Amino acid sequence: MRILIAEDDPVIADGLVHALRKSGCAVDHVASGTEADAALASAQFDLLVLDLGLPKMSGLDVLRRLRARKNAVPVIILTAQDGLQDRVAGLDAGADDYLTKPFALAELEARIRALVRRGTGNPTGISVGPLSYSQVERVARMNGELLELSARELVLLEVLLLRAGRVVSKDQLVEQLCGWGEEVSANAIEVYIHRLRKKLEPGGVLITTLRGLGYCLQKPAATGGSTE
Ligand code: CA
Repeated sequence: MRILIAEDDPVIADGLVHALRKSGCAVDHVASGTEADAALASAQFDLLVLDLGLPKMSGLDVLRRLRARKNAVPVIILTAQDGLQDRVAGLDAGADDYLTKPFALAELEARIRALVRRGTGNPTGISVGPLSYSQVERVARMNGELLELSARELVLLEVLLLRAGRVVSKDQLVEQLCGWGEEVSANAIEVYIHRLRKKLEPGGVLITTLRGLGYCLQKPAATGGSTE
């Protein structure tokens, strides 16, 4: 899951970035409204945590412009304690939820899980054949057995699973990981895919390579029939 944090207070921002990365999310951080607007217009995120009091462009304007582009990414706004009018304006402008500062990280994480659940409409998660994945718990299981995956393998698996049966380009995978603040090369993606394959193959779940196009997590052939 790739999250954008738009927050100009460095202490709050650092805390958020650190905590969300630790829970396995790819996190990007911007400190002004104009940067947030540019990031949202150029990359795809799964969630936006938006401070309303941002320099250069207000969080409310960022949100209005986002929704005007018909971008439905879930948004949690951060407002000051006495900001009742801000909260109302934020929700009216299309925010999904809000938190008043100061807030506990655990509460933000709980709100994020709730939004993700609402977004997928499936609290139990996604499954492909014997492989199941819970976006809420952020764990994958093969035939009910927990799979041991690194944070990056988990991110890649999530992306491939959400698009199971479709091709995901190497660039898209790089984009999902680049929120880690490090450069991720296309070669590194090959390494992660190789490791993922080794963990998934014993369960019969295959990631195929389509030369020059990308990767595809195969849905089991049993569409409509009961082919083993
Ligand atoms: Ca602020």
